[in-house]
Amino acid sequence: MTVEPLGVDGPLPRTARCSEWDFATRGDPWFPDQPTAPLAYATAREECLACPVRAQCLAMVLDVETATWIGHGMVAGLTPAERAELVLQRRPRRFFDWGKRTLAPADQ
Ligand code: SF4
Repeated sequence: MTVEPLGVDGPLPRTARCSEWDFATRGDPWFPDQPTAPLAYATAREECLACPVRAQCLAMVLDVETATWIGHGMVAGLTPAERAELVLQRRPRRFFDWGKRTLAPADQ
C-alpha cells in the first residue's frame, strides 16, 4: 500500500518516511489501534524524527489543526495531545462577548 503524505501545496516529497513504510506487512504505527497504550507511538515517532521532510510536515499539520482543531495520529513526531499544545499557543486568545454575542480578541 502506498500512502501519499500530505502537504500544503500537494504531497510531500517521496522521501517522507511514512511514504516508504510498508503498511501491508508492518501495520500502521502512525495510527495505532490503542493510542493511549504506553509506547503506542514509539515506532512512528522514531520514523518521524528521522524524516527529511519533518519541518514541512509539522508546519502543514499545525496550519491545518489550528484551523480545524482536529488532530489524529502521530504527525511530524508529535502525538495529537502534543500538537494541541502547540496549536493552543498559535491560536488567538478570544473570549465570548455576551453583549455583542460574538467572540472577541482577548486584548480588547
Ligand atoms: S514527519 Fe512523520 S508524518 Fe510527517 S511526512 Fe515524515 S514520516 Fe510522515
